[in-house]
Amino acid sequence: MSKKVWIEDVTGRDGLQNEPKPVSTAQKLTLIRKIAAAGLTRIQATSFVHPRWVPQLADAEELARHLFEIPGVRFSALIPNLKGYERAVAAGFRHLEFVIAASDTFNHKNLNRSTQESFALLEQVTRRALQDGVEIRVGFSNAYHCPFEGTISASALVSRVRTAREIHPWPVSFGDTDGMAFPGQVREALQLLQTGSILKMDDLGLHFHDTYGRGLANVLAGLDLGVRNFDSTTGGLGGCPYCPGASGNLATEDLAAFLAGMGYETGVDMEKLLDAAELAITFSSRPYQGHLLRAMRPNACAVPQ
Ligand SMILES: [Zn+2]
Repeated sequence: MSKKVWIEDVTGRDGLQNEPKPVSTAQKLTLIRKIAAAGLTRIQATSFVHPRWVPQLADAEELARHLFEIPGVRFSALIPNLKGYERAVAAGFRHLEFVIAASDTFNHKNLNRSTQESFALLEQVTRRALQDGVEIRVGFSNAYHCPFEGTISASALVSRVRTAREIHPWPVSFGDTDGMAFPGQVREALQLLQTGSILKMDDLGLHFHDTYGRGLANVLAGLDLGVRNFDSTTGGLGGCPYCPGASGNLATEDLAAFLAGMGYETGVDMEKLLDAAELAITFSSRPYQGHLLRAMRPNACAVPQ
């Protein structure tokens, strides 16, 4: 089995979207350049949601004007609807993540529509994307747990994937939005996908938050079953809006070091990634929540007295 693993760094989108402290476009570009310089070739840079909902990412177009000058990176952006699709494509993106919640209640609260309506929208987005030569990844948020509905069963999640794949066989990602997943759940969902031949593991990305410290254990469950795409944020930025104070996304530096130690190839230069993490944490209003930067460069993580 291949030893190559792709890390998609989602700092620019997931890492910053709930950050209350404003981060300028120039600061974002400096950080993204550092992440790219560390060898990350897949970067989710922003989101084309309405600026009223996510003011931190209101500069998506402005960011895109300079983003594509950075060589060797496949940039992606998140889109919630057709308007977001049009804005993202006009801004130059060719890889987009269309987000649907695995739970109907969360989809209503977050996207203001039923899951069924989201799938109808995915059909429209798919038609446009196929005409435009744009690749979509269908991102299921709250894939394992919903703050309103509780645990999402593997069979419910997999039936959503089946519906999406009937529209078009786009790649899929599972987002552990509130960090509540356990490795057993991850394994169960992946095994169901495999036994039903619903999705090849090459077409699946896993996106973990480290809210309860289970991020790497969940990555290992995915790796063991053949998943080779994982999302993370540099400096562990981001987090769960439902658990204030909880730690954020799985940190890219923790993930990259873990993968390297397990003999996987990621193409990441760890020193340069730690440089990027040092910068990333200055954009966060919370102390550093990852592990590697504190272990390797404790002074960079010291909280000013
Ligand atoms: Zn996330």
